[in-house]
Amino acid sequence: MKIAAYDVREDEKIYFEEIIKQLDLEIVYIDEILSMDTIELAKNCDGVSILGHSQIDSTILNKLKDLNIKYISTRTVGYNHIDLEYANKIGIKVSNSNYPPSGVAEYTVMLMLMSSRNYKQAMFRGNVNDYSLAGLRGKEIKDLTVGVIGSGKIGCAVIDILQGFGCKIIVYDKFIKEEIKLKAEYVDLETLYKDSDVITLHTPLLKETYHMINKETINKMKDGVILINCARGELMDIEAVIEGIEEKKIGALGLDVIENEEGIYHKDRRTDILINRQMAYIRQFPNVTMTQHIAFYTDTAVKSMVTCSVKSLVDFINTGKSELEITNN
Ligand code: NAD
Repeated sequence: MKIAAYDVREDEKIYFEEIIKQLDLEIVYIDEILSMDTIELAKNCDGVSILGHSQIDSTILNKLKDLNIKYISTRTVGYNHIDLEYANKIGIKVSNSNYPPSGVAEYTVMLMLMSSRNYKQAMFRGNVNDYSLAGLRGKEIKDLTVGVIGSGKIGCAVIDILQGFGCKIIVYDKFIKEEIKLKAEYVDLETLYKDSDVITLHTPLLKETYHMINKETINKMKDGVILINCARGELMDIEAVIEGIEEKKIGALGLDVIENEEGIYHKDRRTDILINRQMAYIRQFPNVTMTQHIAFYTDTAVKSMVTCSVKSLVDFINTGKSELEITNN
């Protein structure tokens, strides 16, 4: 049994080595993404493991089929980089990975704290021996109402952590979870916008959630609202968010993701010309804390992503099935 692992980072290799020791498996490591330039490197392999930077369209899928490779596993939770409909149509099976929601939830709460305590400014000043207090007075989370949009895995984990802060938590989701009612109050979206001091987004990117934070919804929020986005950049109309900061409607912003980040993050771009003006502009505000889509990035999550990917390929190869298989239906 042989698999090709594309786009492998050094920090993933230890987990690949751990899992292949337990399974009877040969692995070909390829630094580059899976593309038409690198696809021949998977010749004679039974399956391929990829990350989200590999765009798997019909051309790649047809070529995989020509090479008799029937299984693709992505070491990510999201799979919108794979043309699943076409893969299913030509009989290529696809699986994704999972990991506990705690890492992203902890990171979300960290951005809340950094934003409510003006940490970015405090850190910058400290680095140049400016120990002045002006402009650094913060807010205590316990005094605030936190609005959570999306009570899925990550949203619920955020609510769990926030229990320890003693703040009021309100939540909106299309589906209500009875167990969450013990910890937070479900409200409609209008009420959440109106009453929250902090709003954190935990919905997937869908047609209906695209740009859900826009000029109109920002206007419904409290003056000085703190917005946190560790979900997907496209949930926010970034131009409207910039205006919200300039007009001081938005008090602080914590972003692990930003609209049109694709192709920029997770590589050293210091000497590159980056074409994303909004990203460059929004970064300079003293009340905007931005990170490079790393909320997921913990040892627990990386180990789980690699393990899920390899195990699902082995299951596919041995049995034609995997419990992590994703289909278009
Ligand atoms: P999940 O599927 O468990 O939960 C999503 C929730 O959103 C569900 O409860 C669903 O009912 C709700 N939802 C769907 N449409 C909605 C709408 N229109 N309004 C309100 N709620 C709606 O997903 P999850 O694992 O909690 O992940 C949430 C998001 O976090 C993912 O979609 C992903 O984009 C993002 N994410 C980011 C990182 C990162 O590193 N920054 C890592 C993992 C996930």
